[in-house]
Amino acid sequence: MTKTVESVIKFPYKRSLGPVLGAFMTGLTEQKLLGIRNGSEVLCPPLEWDPKTGKELAHDFVEVGPAGTVQSWNWVASPSEQHPLSKPFAFALIKLDGADTALMHAVDAGSIDAMSTGMRVAPRWRGERKGHITDIEAFVPGEEAQGGGGAGASEPVTMMDYNASITYNTPIPSNVIRGEQANEEGRFLGFKCPTCGRMYTSQKSFCPIDAVELTQEHEIDLPQSGVVSNYTIIEPVQYPGQTETERFSRVHVKLDGVDVVLGFQVLLDTPVDDVHIGMKVSAVWASEGEAQDFDPRREGRLIGWMPTGEPDVDDPNLVNRMP
Ligand SMILES: [Zn+2]
Repeated sequence: MTKTVESVIKFPYKRSLGPVLGAFMTGLTEQKLLGIRNGSEVLCPPLEWDPKTGKELAHDFVEVGPAGTVQSWNWVASPSEQHPLSKPFAFALIKLDGADTALMHAVDAGSIDAMSTGMRVAPRWRGERKGHITDIEAFVPGEEAQGGGGAGASEPVTMMDYNASITYNTPIPSNVIRGEQANEEGRFLGFKCPTCGRMYTSQKSFCPIDAVELTQEHEIDLPQSGVVSNYTIIEPVQYPGQTETERFSRVHVKLDGVDVVLGFQVLLDTPVDDVHIGMKVSAVWASEGEAQDFDPRREGRLIGWMPTGEPDVDDPNLVNRMP
């Protein structure tokens, strides 16, 4: 079975609602659905401007619903954790009674067979409401609103919290897993292409020149010494979670005798102003005991690269060797 790693990207933010959506959200806390007059029409959800002319609308709100008619719908058979309901449901455009435009919301009808265009639905309110569209848990078939109770917001709702979030799984190739095991043993695992003889790190599962798969039988141990072929000096920006406060360097190390460059490595005991291309370096590994205290983001037991003090390598092509 392929090993996978689950990753989550979260992006929490706040938005201001403005006078029209703010009034709509405040209405939700009071179990009221508000539309806005636009000439002879009523728009729900309300807008700040006439969608046809762009003319600003007066804040002339009118209560609509609570029941309405499904205009169109789409069945969600396998909801994700970000969907409003954890069981199969429909997203529907619902024209609330008294409104001329449709509101999109979830319909909890139990099964796809219970859904139809033209069906009548009414909101199922949450017991606790905070001025968010999810104050309505879902619409349900019928004419009568359900749920609810309790008080509305004590003050007008002006802001909305939102969490954008993506969860994804990345498969980890077996070469990468074996490479990580080798790092735990203080080794750099590499692969040698049986056709062209080029060598690669364990990040590669095939030779990109010959399209030959690289497997356990092509494994080699890569050298533990090399030369700085390029570098970056980083000025740490103090975003939340940043632990670095001082300038630091990351170097590319071309390993001795092979065509392999390891990117963005830690250079030890070297002030950033002294970092330069051509420095000879060798790998420093933590002992087994020391490895326990390691930053979990670190790869294996590699602490970094120590300058050896040997004369610099003077090769103008070094900078062109990329990882
Ligand atoms: Zn090859």
